[in-house]
Amino acid sequence: MIRSTMQRVPLSINQLLERGGRLYPDSQIVSRLPDKSLVRHRFADLYRRARGLAAALAGAGLRKGDRVATLCWNHHAHLECYFGIPAAGGVMHTLNLRLASDEIGWIASHAADRFLIVDDILLPLYEQFRDKAKFEKVIVVPFGGAKVVSPFLGYEDFIAVDTSKFQYAEHDENDPVAMCYTSGTTGRPKGVVYSHRSTVIHTLMANQPDHWGLSASDSVLPATPMFHANCWGVPYACVMMGIKLIFPGPHLHPEDLLDLFAAERPTYALGVPTIWMSMLQLLDARPDRYRLPPNMRMLVGGAPVPEAMIRAYQRHGAQICHGWGMTEMSPLGTISFIKPELQHLGEEERFGRYAMAGVPAPIMDIRLVGEDGGECPWDGKSVGEVQVRGPFIAGGYHEVPNDPDRFSADGWLRTGDVATMDAHGYLRITDRTKDLIKSGGEWISSVDMENHLMAHPAVQEAAVIAVPDPKWTERPLACVVLKKDGKATADELRAHLSQKFVKWQLPDRFEFLDSIPRTSTGKFWKVKLRERYRAAQEKRPAASPRR
Ligand code: ADP
Repeated sequence: MIRSTMQRVPLSINQLLERGGRLYPDSQIVSRLPDKSLVRHRFADLYRRARGLAAALAGAGLRKGDRVATLCWNHHAHLECYFGIPAAGGVMHTLNLRLASDEIGWIASHAADRFLIVDDILLPLYEQFRDKAKFEKVIVVPFGGAKVVSPFLGYEDFIAVDTSKFQYAEHDENDPVAMCYTSGTTGRPKGVVYSHRSTVIHTLMANQPDHWGLSASDSVLPATPMFHANCWGVPYACVMMGIKLIFPGPHLHPEDLLDLFAAERPTYALGVPTIWMSMLQLLDARPDRYRLPPNMRMLVGGAPVPEAMIRAYQRHGAQICHGWGMTEMSPLGTISFIKPELQHLGEEERFGRYAMAGVPAPIMDIRLVGEDGGECPWDGKSVGEVQVRGPFIAGGYHEVPNDPDRFSADGWLRTGDVATMDAHGYLRITDRTKDLIKSGGEWISSVDMENHLMAHPAVQEAAVIAVPDPKWTERPLACVVLKKDGKATADELRAHLSQKFVKWQLPDRFEFLDSIPRTSTGKFWKVKLRERYRAAQEKRPAASPRR
């Protein structure tokens, strides 16, 4: 039998740090501190400090596979954890600082985290769950400039060790490097554990041309938190390619982000739609004061991206690419761009393409499975659950290796998202299985309806949910936030929707809200809306949609 003659060197994220640190020592890392001032580090600092962290962790008794939790905002020290913890053979576990303290405690104890690295300004949050999670050592990053006092260890003193004899921990490419719990939008959080191999392959894949396509002359501002799905994998790609990183720290209000844009002029920004929705209001209201850097590209995903938003950002000079993925997928699955065979499309149709979830990433398999269990054709009409398989996709959860709700019998990840795929290979997410609205035996896409509502000039945000109905099983209810000066009645919005939807699909009820509740990762929290309106709806008489 012939054997490959190639070297069997394990894939390793240490190779990314080595490349970034040694070839691009002058690339910058800009972090915004709690007092809003900026601090600058070079990749040479990242290299030295991440290895210092690794050496210090090893010296503190970290064993291979031990979990080191982080409870931090986006900044240089958190980036050092991304590389320093795995360099010592540990597993970085990013805790989501927006969750309720009980839940953070539950997650840290479920993951059996041994050490914690925490921002000084987040110590009050840590105090709220410290009884639930027993960390052996708590290392405090003086992000806000506080003096670190016993029993805590100061991060700066901790990492200031001699690294002249430092050696990366030996590892296999399937050894774990990081773990992340799903944000629990639809249930109890579950732990996804990434490996050197999955992370390197995802990094190479995500930075292909037509995807991020980032080069050393780019500068990237991740508004997506470093505790959410590894910040979408962008820190790994930026370090590998020597790309300037701009971290907003805790300042994610649109005013603050726009000031940071003006000061540091990123060429690429990433985040969930809700962040950019509120920024848009400011850009529209204050063109004299706020402006985007020229030709900025944005990756927006994690939740449906309204076409109206893509159009609006183009007016402000930025191109939004829509991406779809999930924690279990490292997280990138698809990205929208215009394939060569569609270059002839006019501007209008291009917007439609960018509003789709886009084209599947390389090095993964994707299929749509219909209600009958059969695979759906790629005809742009047949709707099925998206299932995926590949080297950067989870095959189980931490301590829950078999979850038939999430994995098919033949080993594919069941994403719980419902979509169509067209002949050009563009995925269009129509819903989450749990958000689907089934009325009188037929499905209504909440995503389509939200998109159309958000195209109305008076509407700032909209979320459409199912409420129970004795006659039709479920009926749609639209929760709408109007713009500051926007005026629209339920009848006007119904008339607007009827341009696109047939009568029986139109919501019977509109609720006008001040804001739509958000999950810990900034997505519309439909579970909360359903809880709020379902109980009330159950007491109401059956609706009478005209069919
Ligand atoms: P959670 O499941 O807790 O929200 P994730 O952040 O991993 O955690 O979210 C993944 C889910 O977010 C996907 O399964 C999908 O439902 C939704 N999602 C991500 N990107 C998009 C998108 N572009 N359009 C619609 N939904 C999206």
